[in-house]
Amino acid sequence: MNLILLGPPGSGKGTQAKRLVQRYEIPQISTGDILREAVKEGTPLGREAKRYMDEGKLVPDEVVVGIVRDRLKGLDCQKGFILDGFPRTIAQAEALDRILGEMGRGIDHVIDIEVDKEELLRRLTGRRTCKRCGAMYHVVFNPPKADGVCDRCGGELYQRDDDKEETIRERLRVYEGQTAPLVEYYEKKGLLRRIDGTGGIEEVEARILKAIGDKG
Ligand code: ADP
Ligand code: ADP
Ligand code: ZN
Repeated sequence: MNLILLGPPGSGKGTQAKRLVQRYEIPQISTGDILREAVKEGTPLGREAKRYMDEGKLVPDEVVVGIVRDRLKGLDCQKGFILDGFPRTIAQAEALDRILGEMGRGIDHVIDIEVDKEELLRRLTGRRTCKRCGAMYHVVFNPPKADGVCDRCGGELYQRDDDKEETIRERLRVYEGQTAPLVEYYEKKGLLRRIDGTGGIEEVEARILKAIGDKG
């Protein structure tokens, strides 16, 4: 199964991707995670990407398309994959179509998780991530058992640099301008599955499974 998770920052893409990974045993490809890893390691890619990420802007298309092209060649992607946070522009979507076309593959479903702006702000300002395993928490909606410590691995929880209110507002603007047009792009191809992203994490997951025809 080849899936794309669309939806604005904070809509729950990462949270849901991790649940789908468990269920279908296919990898999550998060361009945000890959870029943050490169920033942490201080590679040339990371140094270039950081300038954009800190300002809430998109990293140039050629850079992320290159990352995804390489990643999709991985043996672990043969059974399927979950793209989380890619594509984010029409140019990226067209590049993805070409890459998959050359591989003789295609997308099965594009899951658009819909959440209103006020809720996105609440979710992003309270988001915490595990430094070690990447698990996601929210200080109010999905708190860890012990403050600042990951339930799963005991790792330290941190707040992303770009989850500050001013940067969040810029990221939401960028989403509206550059990423929202993908809804229509995939709707025309008959691939779009609109999901109400409000309510509990398990409730949202159930809606996704239903929309992709998983009868459990
Ligand atoms: P979010 O949780 O807001 O959806 P991500 O972790 O997906 O955020 O992305 C964080 C940042 O990484 C983005 O603001 C952007 O700078 C960069 N980034 C991630 N994916 C892409 C992409 N497909 N194209 C361009 N930039 C990207
Ligand atoms: P994205 O990857 O789309 O940016 P995340 O999965 O990181 O979004 O979720 C953003 C924040 O919202 C996290 O703190 C997460 O714990 C929280 N969250 C995710 N799903 C829900 C939900 N259904 N209800 C409330 N909070 C949620
Ligand atoms: Zn952890």
